[in-house]
Amino acid sequence: MTPYNKPLPAENVETKPFWDACRQGKLSMQRCKQCGHHRFPPTFYCPKCNSPEHEWIDSKGLGSVFSWIVVRHPVPRDVYAADVPYVVALIALDEGVRIPSNIVGVEPEKVTAGMRVRVIFRQVTPEITLPLFEPVPEQQ
Ligand SMILES: [Zn+2]
Repeated sequence: MTPYNKPLPAENVETKPFWDACRQGKLSMQRCKQCGHHRFPPTFYCPKCNSPEHEWIDSKGLGSVFSWIVVRHPVPRDVYAADVPYVVALIALDEGVRIPSNIVGVEPEKVTAGMRVRVIFRQVTPEITLPLFEPVPEQQ
């Protein structure tokens, strides 16, 4: 594995189950046991009903592009120069939560609002596997 010199997510007690699932190729989220609200990012208390009771569920990993930008100026330059242009997007998962990520496998100019995407996983260090999104292939 080539060394990964980009910023990495900092795992904490709230997010550890999410990153553990990513390492297993699963996109997970919390579901409130009181009101059923899906939530991301992970929190101790439900933002809808304040209950601390929750369970972790697997997302189907499908969603739509809610918003995005195309990064063309690498900052810091030495770290991202080889990556530009790249897409930073907010994905509206079918379960009703939005997750920030990158869209890969498509030219940035071809990303559109509402484009259907699916999660893929890229292991970047032994500890961190990142969830990324790519367009869902057209049905034949
Ligand atoms: Zn709730």
